[in-house]
Amino acid sequence: MLPICATCGKEMSISKVGVCVVYYLRDGNPYYLVRGDAVSCPKCKNTVVVRFGKKKEHYQLGFEHELQAALANEANPPIIAREG
Ligand SMILES: [Zn+2]
Repeated sequence: MLPICATCGKEMSISKVGVCVVYYLRDGNPYYLVRGDAVSCPKCKNTVVVRFGKKKEHYQLGFEHELQAALANEANPPIIAREG
């Protein structure tokens, strides 16, 4: 079941699969990246990312390479999330 928009009471629908989220700490350092699916409300168009896969943490092998690839992906740009 997909999320229900709390404002409109409508079931949200998938608007984009495999959206990358890059999470930054308050100090500006990237902490992890993760992929999920974007779902949108058909009425108000509010969009959230849900159904996350496994996180790639900053200390894991290949993190920097994946981060740079995600940031350079103009066709499917990442969502930048920030702590606090
Ligand atoms: Zn809505």
